[in-house]
Amino acid sequence: MKVIVSGIVDLSTIDYPKKCSAVIFLHGCNMRCPYCHNLNHILGHKKEMTVEELFNNIDFFFADAIVISGGEPTLQKDAVIEIAKYAKEKGFPVKIDTNGTRPEVIEELVKNNLIDYVAIDVKCKFDKYKEFVKCKEDGEEIKKKILKIIDLCKKNNVFVECRTTFVPMVMDKEDIEEIAKTVKDCDLYAIQQFEPKDAYDEEFKKLPMPKEDELKELGKIAKKYVDRVVIRTINGVFEI
Ligand code: SF4
Repeated sequence: MKVIVSGIVDLSTIDYPKKCSAVIFLHGCNMRCPYCHNLNHILGHKKEMTVEELFNNIDFFFADAIVISGGEPTLQKDAVIEIAKYAKEKGFPVKIDTNGTRPEVIEELVKNNLIDYVAIDVKCKFDKYKEFVKCKEDGEEIKKKILKIIDLCKKNNVFVECRTTFVPMVMDKEDIEEIAKTVKDCDLYAIQQFEPKDAYDEEFKKLPMPKEDELKELGKIAKKYVDRVVIRTINGVFEI
């Protein structure tokens, strides 16, 4: 089978916490998040290859883990499963980044012991989803799917992170409170600093970057519900 790839990064120190990872960006996405940094790249670059060719293209001199990212990688179900199997056979821990819309793919990974870390993007308050990320499903459906993934991971000892990119003037502390309440059983909730300069939506390029102190305050709100909370900023990761 062929996988459709938009890009490969041989070495990243930020995509798999506490590991040096190679990151595989699979082509295509079912959302249009206005703050997305790589959507133009993901949609504009496309290369088909076998999983073996894909791994032959990665320089593993430093990487000790694999991250399957996108786009939305779960749109290519067979590719995700094959990549995870190949990585596991080579002894690498595997993380997947997902927007949570394909729990059946995560289920297959979890049930077959092919995944170690699942990071779910929770984009906004659930009643704002359709408008915010221009997806087909409504927020309530996505909420159920995200909760299903958290439950699956918890029952099978797979580390599950939820994370939200906080965009000032579009989101507020109630958004974070509602999200944190909903995903309270995840292992880690991360609030990420929005970076306007590369946003997909031109209007979002004009929005301010949230200050570290503002994110810390939001982190304290989330901490009322989730045991472990971090904020991720351009200056690093801070435990709340
Ligand atoms: S941030 Fe949104 S638009 Fe960008 S790749 Fe992820 S889900 Fe797709």
